[in-house]
Amino acid sequence: MRIAIWIVACGLSVAWAQKDGEKRSAGAHEHGAGKLSMAFEGLKGSWEWEIPMESIIGFEYQPSTPADKKKLADALETVRTRMAEMVVLPAASGCALTVGKADGIYKDHGDHMHSDLNASGTIVCRSAVQGEIRFAFQKHFPKVHKTTVQFLSEAVQTGAEIVDDRGTLRIGQ
Ligand SMILES: [Zn+2]
Repeated sequence: MRIAIWIVACGLSVAWAQKDGEKRSAGAHEHGAGKLSMAFEGLKGSWEWEIPMESIIGFEYQPSTPADKKKLADALETVRTRMAEMVVLPAASGCALTVGKADGIYKDHGDHMHSDLNASGTIVCRSAVQGEIRFAFQKHFPKVHKTTVQFLSEAVQTGAEIVDDRGTLRIGQ
């Protein structure tokens, strides 16, 4: 139940942040830096990845040319099909990561535009996640330099800051 509340609270803070883009850009919107959260209830989890669009496609305006539209569509397709290569869960836990959605969220600041990738989905495991979670964002998105990772389950609440895909997030012993 605690986890369900956490997810709802998280959703609310995102909704609030989108309404108040200036406040958000002062804190959360840093090019090259993203946030990844994973929350488990039993063997089922959900994940959310947020990162400035600049770090994914090199620009943040709403694409209008066919070339820019293709860049955006290709990047979102990469997230939809390759996310499990970028967030590598411990093999022994037998997890399957799937993508529910991957969208660009646009925020007009008057004189300039910011946008973030917002992607989310589910993780279903055969046994509780235990071991090291590795990251390979730069395999597909070389400009993803820093990711603040949070992991939450009934037994574990932990996190790590992953820089240039180095290091791991260790869950359990
Ligand atoms: Zn930006």
